[in-house]
Amino acid sequence: MLKQFSPDRMLNSPFGITAEHVRSLGKTTILTDLDNTLLAWDEMDATHEIMNWFTLLEAEGIKVMILSNNSEERVDRVARATRIPYLAKAKKPLSKNFKKALRELDSAPEETIMIGDQIMTDILGGNRQKLMTIFVRPVKETDGLATKFNRFMERIILKRLAKKQKMEWEDSL
Ligand SMILES: [Mg+2]
Repeated sequence: MLKQFSPDRMLNSPFGITAEHVRSLGKTTILTDLDNTLLAWDEMDATHEIMNWFTLLEAEGIKVMILSNNSEERVDRVARATRIPYLAKAKKPLSKNFKKALRELDSAPEETIMIGDQIMTDILGGNRQKLMTIFVRPVKETDGLATKFNRFMERIILKRLAKKQKMEWEDSL
């Protein structure tokens, strides 16, 4: 039961993930959440940090796609500025759009990493699809209203995980 909610790794930030790390894990593809994973949930515009990260990964042949539960307008604004492909209104943790993303990228689950700041959507969804899952610290401590209930559940799960598996926050893969 707890296993479904358990990330493979916990990172302080996604931006330290390099193409070399990805390849050394035998992976080719990154699916990433947007809000509070790459950008504060209430921040409208893409940052240079996101652009540089994506540009470097892409230049080295790593496939990247944003998988977000947020609206088309919100995600498109960031994605267009960074040229990162995306699926909005993804309804994570449901499987449909994880599968669609992998189809569009022509990637298999075993070569794909899911990165996100929420256990109940990103990590649960990724684990169900048998992706490697990386839980990251939220960019901003506060959340939108829709996220508050998930955070409540998440705190309970994280407490149990900490007790059971002694997972630790890391700076890089
Ligand atoms: Mg998020």
